[in-house]
Amino acid sequence: MAIEIAGGRMLLAGEWIEKSDQIDVYNPENNEIIGSVPAGKAEDAEYAITLAKEGKELAENLSVRERMDILNKAASYIQDNLEDFARTIALEGSKTINEARSETMRAAETIRISAEEARRLTGESINFDQMAGNKDRMGYYFRFPVGIIAAITPFNDPLNLIAHKIGPGIAAGNAVIIKPATETPLSALKMAEAFMNAGLPHKILSVITGRARDIGDILIESKDVNMISFTGGMQTGEKIANKAGLKRLSMELGSNSPAIVLKDADLHEAAESTTSGAFAAAGQNCLSVQRIYVEEDVYDTFKDLFLKEVKKVKVGNKLSESTDMGPLINEKEAERIEKWVNEAVASGASILSGGTRKGAYYEPTVLENVPDDATVVKEEIFGPVVLLFKVKNLDDAIQCSNDVNYGLQAGIFTANVNAALKASKKLHVGGVMINDSSDFRIDAMPFGGVKGSGIGREGVEYAIKEMSEERIVAFKILDE
Ligand code: NAP
Repeated sequence: MAIEIAGGRMLLAGEWIEKSDQIDVYNPENNEIIGSVPAGKAEDAEYAITLAKEGKELAENLSVRERMDILNKAASYIQDNLEDFARTIALEGSKTINEARSETMRAAETIRISAEEARRLTGESINFDQMAGNKDRMGYYFRFPVGIIAAITPFNDPLNLIAHKIGPGIAAGNAVIIKPATETPLSALKMAEAFMNAGLPHKILSVITGRARDIGDILIESKDVNMISFTGGMQTGEKIANKAGLKRLSMELGSNSPAIVLKDADLHEAAESTTSGAFAAAGQNCLSVQRIYVEEDVYDTFKDLFLKEVKKVKVGNKLSESTDMGPLINEKEAERIEKWVNEAVASGASILSGGTRKGAYYEPTVLENVPDDATVVKEEIFGPVVLLFKVKNLDDAIQCSNDVNYGLQAGIFTANVNAALKASKKLHVGGVMINDSSDFRIDAMPFGGVKGSGIGREGVEYAIKEMSEERIVAFKILDE
């Protein structure tokens, strides 16, 4: 069933462009074609950049009031068309309709927060006279936009991650070129529709569809692009960083997040929270709980409670109101996960639940006795698989949690405030959630990782700072 979305067009510098060369978009649940988008090529990316040079002047000259009005109108458009946006997300990606509704509401909120933060884009006065010989100087700094931002986004949150690029980008006064994941471009085009509807002047925004191999390098290597804002996998992030040259980089990458369960924790709460943190969006979430470290005294009790919760996760049709978990983004991804789990089992791991694949669906899966050097421990699974480990104490859990090349967020369940404080200081991550799983985020908090999980922070206020620069103004007061 085709969804009516701007009729197979993409948005280049505010104009809807049709092309005969189209890429089909599939529903991963049944491989039905649900729409198509233009296969953008190098010349389309070059055209988007050329017009964005005019767009950045227009964007910079929009008053804060005008930016706020456009952002608020775009947010209202998304809210008014919630069901349509949600169906698009659910059909082209792997989210269930309920998960898709929640993402749509968050995307509208992200854009609304961007409008509010535009108001707070201020500088401060500087005491130049703190240095000898500067008694007669006074001044301030203000923030100005970086210029043209090329934003490259992944498939797993196809709307809200676009909102996290366009909202702060426009709030800070930039032109933005979005290259969405080829698997999920339709939600990005719906976001473009919201901004065109809100009266964003042409040339400020492009949403260029097409394969990374055809348009990626043009966007990344262009000297006219001032910033690459990338969200996606670590390996892709590294490739982009190697090619980008002298321009600002924001890298929101993956992880294999830990959760720690101590013996004094509320074990029911921990089991519920880690289950939802591990299997939301079929585990295709940068914050997914992947490794659970449980203090040995409560390991068996926690394991029983956790497995009971996992059994409740209802896998099925994405558009059904009662489904908790849908398929992976494609069958190839489900096969990769199956292979990684089979390798872990061959090296000594045991399957406590799940472990079978049907097409793009992979059952919610729990493993234990997994060797420390298994791929499922060291790498990001990005699927519905979680590993249980027995640890001696908090120090042991912290050491194991840190012993990977990722560091996005971590969770710890405990009633002991000292343990919580120690974990918050010693875990090498961008966020520590106490009595919650790693999968907690609001769109207004600083969000990002360390090590292979990224560079910089999103979360609207923080993204706006990354997407703008300080300019100093210094006055020398002359004698009359
Ligand atoms: P991906 O394969 O890295 O792709 C992400 C985007 O990069 C897509 O638009 C893709 O385009 C493009 N791309 C791929 N290779 C490229 C290249 N050589 N040059 C330029 N662009 C290139 O990631 P994914 O599988 O879509 O998403 C999953 C990953 O994103 C996971 O690692 C997840 O943890 C991470 N993620 C991180 C966050 C965060 O905020 N930290 C949030 C969500 C997801 P094509 O589709 O055309 O290949």
